[in-house]
Amino acid sequence: MTNARRTAINAGYIIAHDGRGHRLLRDGVVVVEGNSILHVGPRFDGRVDEVVDARDRVVTPGLITTHAHIAGSPLDRSFIEDRGNPQFWYSGLFEMLPVRGASQDEEAGRACVDFSMAELLRGGVTTVMEIGGQGEYVVDRAAHYGIRTYMGLGFRSGRWVTYDGRRVQWEWNEEQGRAGLQRAVEFFKRHDGAHGGLVRCFMTPMQIDTCTADLLQDAKRYADEFKCPYQVHTSQSTVEFFEMLGRHGKTPVAWMDELGILSPNTILGHAIIIGGSSWTNYPAGDIQRMADSGCSVAHAVWVFARRGIAMESFARYLADGVNMSLGTDTNPQSVIEAMRWAAVISKVVDRQTETATAADAFNAATLGGARALGRDDLGRIAPGAKADLVLWKTRSWGMTPMRDPVKNIVYNANAEDVDRVYVDGRVVVEGGKVLAADESAIFSALQAGGERMWPRMGEFDWAHRGADELSPQTYPAWR
Ligand SMILES: [Zn+2]
Repeated sequence: MTNARRTAINAGYIIAHDGRGHRLLRDGVVVVEGNSILHVGPRFDGRVDEVVDARDRVVTPGLITTHAHIAGSPLDRSFIEDRGNPQFWYSGLFEMLPVRGASQDEEAGRACVDFSMAELLRGGVTTVMEIGGQGEYVVDRAAHYGIRTYMGLGFRSGRWVTYDGRRVQWEWNEEQGRAGLQRAVEFFKRHDGAHGGLVRCFMTPMQIDTCTADLLQDAKRYADEFKCPYQVHTSQSTVEFFEMLGRHGKTPVAWMDELGILSPNTILGHAIIIGGSSWTNYPAGDIQRMADSGCSVAHAVWVFARRGIAMESFARYLADGVNMSLGTDTNPQSVIEAMRWAAVISKVVDRQTETATAADAFNAATLGGARALGRDDLGRIAPGAKADLVLWKTRSWGMTPMRDPVKNIVYNANAEDVDRVYVDGRVVVEGGKVLAADESAIFSALQAGGERMWPRMGEFDWAHRGADELSPQTYPAWR
């Protein structure tokens, strides 16, 4: 291994980790050896095989999303926005998303995976935690594009459904849940560590309200045995929160605590509608339960913000000791946007500019994500960490003038400001282009997937409403 190729990246600005936290290193060097970081500091005097002149670049660790559904995400576009049912407190989970998902075919799902992986990489995301059903394809494409991927094959014992747009009902099929768990376990054994460790797997019972206590606990035992992450969608809607209160006399988070499934390898997808929040008007305690257990939250701020729903608040969870990571969930697959929305929405909720800072957002997108995954070799530029790096431009629309690179990234940048991305030591984005992506083919496949999907929607809606009724065009057609 000592003969692995060494690359020295001489950079004007490096967000380097000194063992305690991120620091701004001016005019330093990052040395990559094979797939890992050998050294970071002001100088390096050892042997190198290649020198990269990045004096006009900012080098940061790659960004991490701990919650994504990339096998469907871009097809939410131009459908899901601006529409919601007040009966369900405007959540899209009960009418919009089931219709969208049921209308989508498998080929469109593959188009979504290709689109999303390229979208993630060009926005500086080097690790994605995918929750879904297209496991084999995701594993295959992770190697193709070169993106570090955690794949969790979802399973559940029931599903929610509405037949009248007023009430949500739960239909149970416990056998299906058991079979799903077995499939996920077999999938884990087959693919965890695939492609030289680029692909890892995790256990993910889909939603706290669609899984039996037994299924949740059995899945947790596997996660503990496999030493892998365990993620469950939790406290993601007002409907779910009050259903769980009715079933158990406890908040979803308190019930998880009682079941013994809150621990450091547990990631709660969302955890927004909780006790102590004005969305529930129910006594506080959930934030403390999360903090005490050492679990993490995958905070997917944008998908809630666009429905008028906000965590109360990102800054407050952090201050109370909860490990916060960021998720991209459905669309866009942009952690840059996730950082920006996490900071800004929290400031708005708290009516405070000095909380939910650029550091808080950037930490969540790097160190917080790494901790959620149980990885101290991700989310940081430090010796021994994986060489997952983003080189940002300094002379560009989002990054000039350059004084504080992290403020520029969190509050101003977009994917156009990303120049080069390394994952596991491999260059996967160069000059802003995802090297393994055929953009034209990706766009065509996604458009075709949408055009097959939209006309089918009426078949899957309880009231047989088509796409144009569920989500009318923003402006009426010219006549
Ligand atoms: Zn989700």
